[in-house]
Amino acid sequence: MQDPTNDAPFAFLAGNEAGGLLILGDHASNRVPPPYGDLGLPAAELERHIAYDIGVETLVRRLAALTGAPALVTRFSRLLIDANRGEDDPTLVMRLSDGAIVPGNAGVDAAERQRRIERFHRPYHAAIAGLIDRMIATGTLPAILSVHSFTPAWKGVSRPWDMAILWDSDDRLVRPALAAFRARGLTVGDNEPYDGALRNDTLYRHATARGLPHLLIEVRQDHIAEAAGAERWAETIAEVVMPLLTRPEMRQAAFFGSRAGGLDRAKNG
Ligand SMILES: [Zn+2]
Repeated sequence: MQDPTNDAPFAFLAGNEAGGLLILGDHASNRVPPPYGDLGLPAAELERHIAYDIGVETLVRRLAALTGAPALVTRFSRLLIDANRGEDDPTLVMRLSDGAIVPGNAGVDAAERQRRIERFHRPYHAAIAGLIDRMIATGTLPAILSVHSFTPAWKGVSRPWDMAILWDSDDRLVRPALAAFRARGLTVGDNEPYDGALRNDTLYRHATARGLPHLLIEVRQDHIAEAAGAERWAETIAEVVMPLLTRPEMRQAAFFGSRAGGLDRAKNG
């Protein structure tokens, strides 16, 4: 899947821009391009959940194919820079992740942080903003579906959820989606294992601040690490989400604010 001559910081999967759905994979890739080498980490660390959301790229590609929606996925590891953080977030470049020290990040100063923002973070977010502009211009308001995955165990404790829905304040898609996934017998975390209110994250910037309905789904990684599992989950998610998009409340911008607060958009670009 990786083309060594392709240095783009994201992949764009073209789709129906008037279809009312945009899919995002912020942590889809564990790619670390030159000159960053392996960030000083053993190869095995770059295959772990700390480097990316295992299974998400396959899941997003399958979801895009099933729904016809356009999608954007990152092509850089979150260990380089975390696409789902605001530019001002202190955890944008992590020096330590789940017990692993990241040697390649130890000496990151303001200039290097800025270099990574400009090479990876900003182009991805500019692509999202531009695509949303085009989708709105079709006359159909897009809903945004953000796909992540979480590790089955954290600090030695198993996690009981098959999947999770993380959200801030806009519950338009959240409540019916929670009910529909649970009706299928799935154990669904409601803002567990993480709280979805994260200052200036991807969904704040591109959905909350623009009044767009949105849904952040996390799938437990053992369900989607193999392609067959990711494809089954793509079918389930498409079956749950697509009927909800026809509801009238999804077709109008509505502003719910954020429990985490947020920068004004002029500052954050
Ligand atoms: Zn993620």
